[in-house]
Amino acid sequence: MPSEDYAALLERIGRVKDVNSAIGLLSWDQEVYMPPKGAPARGQQLATLSAISHRMFTGKEVGELLDRLGGDTSLSADATKLVEETRYDYDRATRLPESFVQKFSEERSKAYEAWVRAKGENNFEGFRPNLETIVDLSKQKADLMGYEGSPYNALLEDYERGMTTEQLRPIFSELAERQSNLVERIAASGRAPDTAWLDTEWDRDAQWDFTIRILRDMGYDLEAGRQDESVHPFTTDFDLYDVRVTTRINTNNPFEAIMASIHEGGHGLYEQGFLASDQRTILGEAISLGIHESQSRLWETLIGQSRPFWEHYAEVLRQAFPEQLKNVSNDAVYRGVNKVQPTLRRLDADECTYNLHIILRFEIEVALIEGDLKVADIPGLWKAKMKQYLGLDVPDDARGCLQDIHWSHGSIGYFPTYTLGNLYAAQFLEKLLEDLPTLWEEVGAGNFAGLLTWLRAKVHQVGRRKQPAELVRDVTGKDPSSEAYLDYLEKKYGELYDL
Ligand code: ZN
Repeated sequence: MPSEDYAALLERIGRVKDVNSAIGLLSWDQEVYMPPKGAPARGQQLATLSAISHRMFTGKEVGELLDRLGGDTSLSADATKLVEETRYDYDRATRLPESFVQKFSEERSKAYEAWVRAKGENNFEGFRPNLETIVDLSKQKADLMGYEGSPYNALLEDYERGMTTEQLRPIFSELAERQSNLVERIAASGRAPDTAWLDTEWDRDAQWDFTIRILRDMGYDLEAGRQDESVHPFTTDFDLYDVRVTTRINTNNPFEAIMASIHEGGHGLYEQGFLASDQRTILGEAISLGIHESQSRLWETLIGQSRPFWEHYAEVLRQAFPEQLKNVSNDAVYRGVNKVQPTLRRLDADECTYNLHIILRFEIEVALIEGDLKVADIPGLWKAKMKQYLGLDVPDDARGCLQDIHWSHGSIGYFPTYTLGNLYAAQFLEKLLEDLPTLWEEVGAGNFAGLLTWLRAKVHQVGRRKQPAELVRDVTGKDPSSEAYLDYLEKKYGELYDL
């Protein structure tokens, strides 16, 4: 019999989540359907609802309920966990004074506008003062939140709980060394696949149907979700039974939409996989961005760029595009999907180079927050690191340090989760293959039921019951590390490029 306090807490959290879902729906609409002139009003609506949600959650009644429930030994294990997780969120949400939150939010809006302009004009100076303010505020935020070791840890905590700069440094330096070495050997191999067959027109509707077909095959429930188009693909959820994904269609390259849909489908399956009994509670949520990204990257790269996957789906794609693919073998499709090519833009990066883009950003962010780097010196350091890791000369800042939106949003500490997602995914796959030795045969038949069942049981249904590193350890028996990912990359690309 749940106590009155516990029922009151559930009700309060449920209502906060209702408001947050309304915020999510307005944001989804903003990206998918809203006419451009609706932006200012939408900004106000979102600000009003965000303030309401924050006040509802941080009210002192919630603190009092949590104080009383914190000592309640009659609660079940799940209820105890739920109280602990709510306490964690509550403490973090109340640690920053409202004046600071307000100031940070205003400076972020200014920084975003300055960034859009500076990027368009290829003028880093136009963004520099704003970024200096964001870095200063981020340092203040770290002090207010508290930390051990590097102040960057306080920022990382927002995106990847429990992860530290001290843990990431050795993992990332090994990745940087071995991945840039791999990229060099690939370039020297002279075995770049011929992808001239891609240079043609790819019908929009046929692409759309193909992405829906794959989402359905993956097990994404279209009765509890939908796909739309947006400039930047994303996944959002308003409830366990309303999880939406978006994709982006390029009529010059069908693989953009295919990979975006598989990626977002992986995120969507995670959100659709929480326990029904956790619906409208804090336990039915993703534990971290790194774990979230492990789900999207597992489907997109480890599965969606595998040979068995394309043995099956190249045939399906050929039915949709008989003219374009009549002289292209399944093997050529597989090789085309896995072409390695260092790029200036992170968003264009392939599996072998992606982490290098992230490591460069991580190193710059840590140096900024630890006080070893001035904002004015970012462009120079960016160019030096792009040369070192990817062998590329950066022609201008628009294609260099101004390319990402994250810093203008004040999201320092976010980037590492992309790479952690790759690493966790490879660790999960290693274990998955032990538990499900027929995985590749099933994938080769377009059958993902075994894979999804495993992910549901091991990852999705856990929700917020475990910390990210704890989850990885419990599932794989190992700490988060770069080993599985590097083994995977070196084996796959060693074979593809005859290294
Ligand atoms: Zn993602």
